[in-house]
Amino acid sequence: MRRKWVGGNWKMNGSRAMTSSLAGAIVEARINGVEVALFPPFPYLREACAACAGSRIGVGGQDLSEHESGAFTGEVSAAMLRDVGCTLVLAGHSERRQYHKETDQQVASKVSQALEHGLTPVLCVGETLDERDAGHTAAVVSRQLDEVVSCCGIEAFARIVIAYEPVWAIGTGRCASAEQAQEVHALLRSQLARDDARIAGSTRIVYGGSVKPGNAAELFAQPDIDGGLIGGAALQATDFLSICAAAG
Ligand code: PEP
Repeated sequence: MRRKWVGGNWKMNGSRAMTSSLAGAIVEARINGVEVALFPPFPYLREACAACAGSRIGVGGQDLSEHESGAFTGEVSAAMLRDVGCTLVLAGHSERRQYHKETDQQVASKVSQALEHGLTPVLCVGETLDERDAGHTAAVVSRQLDEVVSCCGIEAFARIVIAYEPVWAIGTGRCASAEQAQEVHALLRSQLARDDARIAGSTRIVYGGSVKPGNAAELFAQPDIDGGLIGGAALQATDFLSICAAAG
């Protein structure tokens, strides 16, 4: 039985005060039966870690460098994230792939860095609308997953959370139907199972893309959907908590 997982990706939103109060409200709700993680912007990680200290809520970065350290101005390493108290990190979010031209190889290197430094990588995969319309969804997500399997090995998936996030559903209000999401989740799981059925059975594969309190329960009831990565609805404690409740 896989434990459900819900993450809140705050993207480039918030302030120190908002981080402390939103993370504080989530901690105070004492969510049970579901693993919860918050991904605030880099400058607010310390506030989030302080608010979540002593709770079971994890804090993670929204991105990390594929490099260990050195002359990479503006980048943040896995070791730095660990140093400020993070236990997780997003890798390959579609906004990074789209606006920063991150390649599958770079994303795989980021996952590898995260693992090397003891962070749980949340590997984001997903197709654009053009790719879906052209019937390429399976090929795109398989390619994105395969690069990480080749780079990090199948055993690494005992420590990786996969987030299926169709690009056309992120921030658009257009959520994938439960059937559409389940179909891709099952495909990702069967791809892992070709290498190791036991690991495939235990890897959390969560859905992201316009998840709201009103659609979370139906999505999370699907056999291969193990929770969600939440953007817009993670910025309101009541919405985020009701999504967590739907997963619990
Ligand atoms: C995201 O940013 O990962 C996301 C899923 O956003 P939203 O929930 O707003 O679609």
